[in-house]
Amino acid sequence: MFEKILIANRGEIALRILRACKEMGIKTVAVHSLVDHDLKHVRLADESVCIGPNPSAKSYLNVPAIITAMEITDADAVHPGYGFLAENADFAERVQKSGFTFIGPDPDVIRMMGDKVEAIKAMIKAGVPTVPGSNGAVPSDNPDVCMEIGRRIGYPIIIKAASGGGGRGMRVVHDEATLMNSILITQGEAKAAFGDDTVYMEKYLQNPRHVEVQILSDGQGNAIHLGDRDCSLQRRHQKVLEEAPAPGIPQAVREATYAACVKACVEMGYKGAGTFEFLYEDGRFYFIEMNTRIQVEHPVSEMITGIDLIKEQIRVCAGEKLSIKQSDVIIRGHAFECRINAEDPKTFLPCPGLVKGFHAPGGLGVRVDSHLYSGYTVPPNYDSMIAKIITFGDTREIALSRMRQALDETIVDGIRTNIPLQQMLVRDEEFRKGGVNIHYLEKKLAL
Ligand code: ADP
Repeated sequence: MFEKILIANRGEIALRILRACKEMGIKTVAVHSLVDHDLKHVRLADESVCIGPNPSAKSYLNVPAIITAMEITDADAVHPGYGFLAENADFAERVQKSGFTFIGPDPDVIRMMGDKVEAIKAMIKAGVPTVPGSNGAVPSDNPDVCMEIGRRIGYPIIIKAASGGGGRGMRVVHDEATLMNSILITQGEAKAAFGDDTVYMEKYLQNPRHVEVQILSDGQGNAIHLGDRDCSLQRRHQKVLEEAPAPGIPQAVREATYAACVKACVEMGYKGAGTFEFLYEDGRFYFIEMNTRIQVEHPVSEMITGIDLIKEQIRVCAGEKLSIKQSDVIIRGHAFECRINAEDPKTFLPCPGLVKGFHAPGGLGVRVDSHLYSGYTVPPNYDSMIAKIITFGDTREIALSRMRQALDETIVDGIRTNIPLQQMLVRDEEFRKGGVNIHYLEKKLAL
């Protein structure tokens, strides 16, 4: 097992990783930008290193500074969290070449999943259900072939950048007349944003839900799933509120999908925690992408399985075999997560600033993952998420009523937050029934 882990992240996830390390008796190194010297995990870590000025490009994405911090603190491994360098294959490779361990899958697996065309090919091979599509890059220099593929898929179609991410590099096409133009525009945007103009086509699903499957795999032939999560409540492709398990999905359909995900992990030699993201429509799953990291919403899976995903991720990346068998994973109860952002609840503009007072909710079945404390100043430089409120209950209704209560108890004084939006959502009648689709929140906000 590792003796010392460097945490290459900030905010709540850095604190979450630090807590797992402390439980495991592993020493921790926090790295931070200038403004982040008073982050909670920096105060709690065994050692800390300032890796640069505030802009992420100069600190949290500063690979040489992070590698140097590993060298001077004699850390064994780096945990990248989510965002920043978590899915950067070049970083993972640099870490390995410098003689350290990257807590995540091998660089070539990260690279393959980062190329959505390659990822889809791997999924088809493993029998994971995918969206009907071009199953490969489209030849933009051959309009006849493109239109032929378009006719086979049927309109509407979505054109997507192979290297796309964060909801960028996508365009919906409704008829053949606009197909070629849309392909060329998406290609141009993809080249500018991701340095790769490869694009592919998929059937555009009109009213899907976003349902994802959590897996753990040791790269030694053992993989398990930890059930699914529904993350359909999104605004501009950003998840707002998640739950586990996804409500109302037939058991046989989910079991078949889990089995295919597990098989894909074994075939890829996947190591660590990972998520298969699907669109779910009319009783069927359609793979859209795999995330090769721990995700923001991982706590809801932890609550319904009792498994600490970060600890397991660290164990398998330290070379241990997976200690949990599929038959040990018992999915029980229901969990919700509300992301609390420092933003105006109406305009969604970020609202950084001094938190004069913070009161976290509590009680049975309530968990708060947050780096906030009274007197902390939320800097303007990074993501606006300041807390995750997670609730658990034996039933969906109990977990939801606990969330209503938890949100009402929370006080963040001094800055504006999206708590009013979350309070509205957890009282929404349609959401309460379960199973709203990915357009639901935006439609509701537009009313
Ligand atoms: P990213 O890596 O940018 O998040 P994804 O492939 O995960 O890209 O897609 C992001 C979002 O775009 C999905 O959550 C969904 O809302 C929409 N989307 C992607 N593919 C399709 C599709 N085939 N049909 C309908 N919506 C889609």
